[in-house]
Amino acid sequence: MLIERIWAANEGRNYHYLIACEETGEALAVDPLNAPAVLERARIKGWSIRQVFNTHEHRDHTGGNAAVVAATGAQVLAHAAAAARIGGVTRGLNGSDVVRIGRTVQLRCLDTPGHTRAHLCLYAEGADNRAPALFSGDTLFNAGAGNCLHGGDPQLLFDSFADPLARLPADTRVLPGHDYLVRNLGFTLDREPDNASARALAQRCAALGGEAMPTLTLAEERKINVFMRLQSPAIIEGLRRAGAIARDNPGPKEVFLALRELRNRW
Ligand SMILES: [Zn+2]
Ligand SMILES: [Zn+2]
Repeated sequence: MLIERIWAANEGRNYHYLIACEETGEALAVDPLNAPAVLERARIKGWSIRQVFNTHEHRDHTGGNAAVVAATGAQVLAHAAAAARIGGVTRGLNGSDVVRIGRTVQLRCLDTPGHTRAHLCLYAEGADNRAPALFSGDTLFNAGAGNCLHGGDPQLLFDSFADPLARLPADTRVLPGHDYLVRNLGFTLDREPDNASARALAQRCAALGGEAMPTLTLAEERKINVFMRLQSPAIIEGLRRAGAIARDNPGPKEVFLALRELRNRW
């Protein structure tokens, strides 16, 4: 399995991905918006795009579908429940469905509602010489979680973080739909000022553009992403002092929802 990350160079800081079979050169494009950039990268790599996959229906993840399909004749894959809103979907998917690319690539759909009610992540198991990979759309960002302001539900987002995301292997590479890393690290440090991992990463990434951002693993996320640090005493105490949670010993869901709510206004 070969992966190319493509920076959309837009205000929304979108990332697109090409996933290709190294034997056949057949490729799948994840969430194309900047279609020319996606098509150009495929041309440079010598790959032929046979499928488009949308993690969810938001326009910044589907806006390049038509141009990619016009240029390549690709099939369009998306959550069955989002297909009508996306338009042009040729294969409706559900959680646990398998997407194949060429002869060698197999990806599993993970049902991850929350940012929207119909959101899928794509997951590639690890192999001998390759760590697992999670194409996490707008569910999980580096050091953050998707907002729920445009058709979502924070309770569902919590459930998606608990299962399946928390169950994935620590060495899973996280490949999100946007580069929000530096801004999200600011929120982590606001909530958890003594988080040395977050501070070091913020310093390392401050001057990098979206194109150059590092790819993090879930093990790293668990150190710097407050939405994966729901037991952190510093985070809980900070929320209590801010009046964002009522009880002294809140459960993980209460902490997650309070953080999601605070992040909307931060
Ligand atoms: Zn979105
Ligand atoms: Zn988005």
